[in-house]
Amino acid sequence: MKKVLAALTASLMIATGCTIDLETKLQKNTKTEPFKKIYEIHAPYVPESQEEISQNKDVAEYKIKVDHSQGSKEVNIKIPLFTKLNCNTCHTVKELADKTKARLEKGIQTINSQYPDTFKNEDLIPKLYVIQPYEIPSEDAFAYTIKPERSINIKATSILFEKQYMNDSITAHEQMHLGQGYLWLNTETEPHFLNISNSDGRTWANTRLITYDRIISTFIDNTLEKEIYKYYNNIDELNLIGGIGISDMPKDLETKIKKTIEKLKPIFAESAKERSKNPLGWEYHYRDLAVETLLPEIIAAKNLKPIKKISKEKLNKGLETIRNMYYSDADNPFSIFGIRASLRRGFDMQAMNRLSDEGFSEEEARIIYFSYLKERFVNKDGSLNLGDMPYLNEVTDERLYFMEEHKKMPIITEEGRKFIDQAIQDLEKKLSPGYKRKY
Ligand SMILES: [Zn+2]
Repeated sequence: MKKVLAALTASLMIATGCTIDLETKLQKNTKTEPFKKIYEIHAPYVPESQEEISQNKDVAEYKIKVDHSQGSKEVNIKIPLFTKLNCNTCHTVKELADKTKARLEKGIQTINSQYPDTFKNEDLIPKLYVIQPYEIPSEDAFAYTIKPERSINIKATSILFEKQYMNDSITAHEQMHLGQGYLWLNTETEPHFLNISNSDGRTWANTRLITYDRIISTFIDNTLEKEIYKYYNNIDELNLIGGIGISDMPKDLETKIKKTIEKLKPIFAESAKERSKNPLGWEYHYRDLAVETLLPEIIAAKNLKPIKKISKEKLNKGLETIRNMYYSDADNPFSIFGIRASLRRGFDMQAMNRLSDEGFSEEEARIIYFSYLKERFVNKDGSLNLGDMPYLNEVTDERLYFMEEHKKMPIITEEGRKFIDQAIQDLEKKLSPGYKRKY
């Protein structure tokens, strides 16, 4: 349905704007809000050919100065097909540029308040901000960032959506990526949480809290997960806007979610800070254990007390199981491009399964799992301990390979290549003396 509407709207935009046909179609949906109409008018344009985009010279440009606490930085704004798609009949470039300036300055504030003392403000400002009237390459994504170029590309519909439902956090999410530096693979954890915690209860974004189900049900609220699942399973009642579900969430569920988010905020703030201190080390352990939410889970284990209790005897027996499991699996030889990762994939799941085989309840297994994380990664003084990283050279080597490949992509400019070269030089210093590159 999304594609049909998009095509319909696009062709209408070139011709006469909104016609009766489209109006009827939209009004048929009983939940139609004025917002939906505006959203559909801006639905991504479908070009006749790839050349229409790559050879397009119709680009509106405007320069803005984005202020931050230590000064300001210039951002170039580009809007392709501005005249062709008749954007100029309703907008001026200056008006859209001023709104972008406000959005980027708000992004800096949002990030600073949620992730204090973690990012340099000037790093949160792009050089280029492209408002795209057509789809972006990765399907169903709202926006993307090219770090070496320091550019943010965002769909026009994403800007409308983030304003209506996400407290402008799609732009802020991309700004966070700019602040994260270059080399990380596992970079979505904290920016994702930024979206979740800034989203309106009516969007499905909050259902993504399920990603943190282990943390929530062990430490914060052991009934919420079931309620979110129940809500999520009623997805057929959702009203779709650009493929995104909108629905009125029951008030009490929304309140519970808000409370949970407030309790999670300090966990993610600490997680972002720790990650920025040693991105390579945390990338190593993320790859090693294949647990997407590893770092916030470690911090939750360190700072929070489980809702339920478990006897000392049971805890020790369970811990012994995980210790044996972890250390015997660690003997697997390292192999790049997925082989070792697949041997290890889902350490958390494996741990849960083995404990369940030994007769522990799910609740007990989770407590044992978190106790293990604490034992393995947290020092007595509360600082985090990355421990031995026997394959760090290989992980670094592999990352260097990806950077070298990235450099060859046609999308990267000369300036971007210089940026990657610098990143490569910095990373090469982390290899042990005498290590021979394999990739
Ligand atoms: Zn992202």
